[in-house]
Amino acid sequence: MAEKKKTTKKKAAKKKATVRTVRAKPKAKKKVSRQREWQRKMREEGRCIKCGAPAVGKALCPTHLAAERERQRKLKGWKGRKTGALSYQFE
Ligand SMILES: [Zn+2]
Repeated sequence: MAEKKKTTKKKAAKKKATVRTVRAKPKAKKKVSRQREWQRKMREEGRCIKCGAPAVGKALCPTHLAAERERQRKLKGWKGRKTGALSYQFE
């Protein structure tokens, strides 16, 4: 009798798991800040997410692309320069 109860519990757990996977439908839109909203809009329109000027890469204008490169160089301590990179084409 006890064994039977165990199996039913397992079955119930399995059912729950399948329900969870079935519910993998798109969630409601997550709330984001006005700043992030603006950044997403700019990115979609192909403009810089920092100043709104036309972007050259995915999200940044030449000025901010170079600034971001230098910021990361300082942060990571990188010594070499890949002068063929996109951010160097506008200098
Ligand atoms: Zn910019």
